[in-house]
Amino acid sequence: MDLVLPFTLGGGAFRGRLVRLHQVATETIVRHHQPEAVGRLIGEALVLAVAVGSRLKFDGVVTLQTSSDGPVSRIVADMTSDGNVRASVATDPDRLAEMIASGVPLDFAHLSGKGHLAMTVDQGDDTDRYQGIVAIEGHTLADTAISYFRQSEQIGTALLLAAEAPDGGFGWRAGGILLQRLPTPNATLAGPEEADAWETAKVLLQSLTDRELLDPTLAATEVLRRLFHQSGLAVYDGADVRFACRCSRQRLEGVLAGLPPEDLAHAAVDGTIEVTCDFCKTRYIFDVDDIPTSSVSSDNSSKPRSE
Ligand SMILES: [Zn+2]
Repeated sequence: MDLVLPFTLGGGAFRGRLVRLHQVATETIVRHHQPEAVGRLIGEALVLAVAVGSRLKFDGVVTLQTSSDGPVSRIVADMTSDGNVRASVATDPDRLAEMIASGVPLDFAHLSGKGHLAMTVDQGDDTDRYQGIVAIEGHTLADTAISYFRQSEQIGTALLLAAEAPDGGFGWRAGGILLQRLPTPNATLAGPEEADAWETAKVLLQSLTDRELLDPTLAATEVLRRLFHQSGLAVYDGADVRFACRCSRQRLEGVLAGLPPEDLAHAAVDGTIEVTCDFCKTRYIFDVDDIPTSSVSSDNSSKPRSE
């Protein structure tokens, strides 16, 4: 049930990804002990990260990150080119409880507030790091992502994202379909014909309900066939994705070693420092005396944000 399925329409004029996450969504979301509305956002962010990350042609990581002034001030989801996915979230529990009690719709726009969405593609030392940023717009994460693709990549995009925790507590289901219009349409579709086909494909995609998108009894290929059987659909081999965190004791120790000694002293309790990974919630305990003191040469390769 955890998969990303590439497809094309119109002989390759439009390119898509269908993503379905069950175990990945469940394993990721339950670690964060958040209200259901926040769990839905994490689920949608995971799906978006997988849809974008599965386009990577070289080894690397795709990270999407929101930063905003609402009760949910940060959502991070990333995916490596070999299919490892994870997510983290930062919330203000008091403001969150207040908003839930107030009865306003608990959508992305209300929970996140004003801010932006950034997507970063990092393909190692040999290639440049690429980052695009867009303001949070519309009601849903999908609305903002569509605006991202339009502004940062000049790609016409249609996108569905959904996540739910079905009755019975058997975990989470998250899913989505990303459909993009290639900047240089191929020869089989051009001009008004290509524009019409794009409008039709968008309408067809919007006709899919969240229930159908997430229904585990409906195979992913069947979802696509029902929608696009008259749109020149071609489905390609799917790829697996899984929950996996990249944190390690060694990496965190490297981060701590880069901090000023006075910060370490301030953070220590009874001579130990406890660090919890934002993503997988693993707790690491360090003896302050075991942490190497600030290295003489500054180590620019350590990235505290993505331990
Ligand atoms: Zn971790």
